[in-house]
Amino acid sequence: MEQKTVLYIEDNPHNRRLVRRTLERRGYTLIEAEDGESGLRMVQELKPPLVLLDIGLPKIDGIEVVGRIKADPELRHIPVIAITASAMQGDRERFLAAGCDDYLSKPIQVGELLDKVALYYPALAAIHRQ
Ligand code: MN
Repeated sequence: MEQKTVLYIEDNPHNRRLVRRTLERRGYTLIEAEDGESGLRMVQELKPPLVLLDIGLPKIDGIEVVGRIKADPELRHIPVIAITASAMQGDRERFLAAGCDDYLSKPIQVGELLDKVALYYPALAAIHRQ
């Protein structure tokens, strides 16, 4: 899969549109899934370089999705960034404990999103050089 491709698993079309516009403007290709089940299937089939993951999702929630990604030796190297409105004390720790590599809170801040996405690409480049 092309290096600048990002998979975004999110049931809210407004968030998907915002992230799609933001990332495409910077040369990323965004592929999208609307629920946890199809999102997990796309991770398995496409092995995208980076996954953005909503936590509150139909069918399979984001905690379960990241758990299954990180339990799979073929997939666990893929960075997963949680993006969620859930901002209660301890949530960040809960998402990281579930296997998320990082966390962004909604409402999505465009600059913050781009910084976070860019942060995970050099790490991938290093992996591919090995
Ligand atoms: Mn949601």
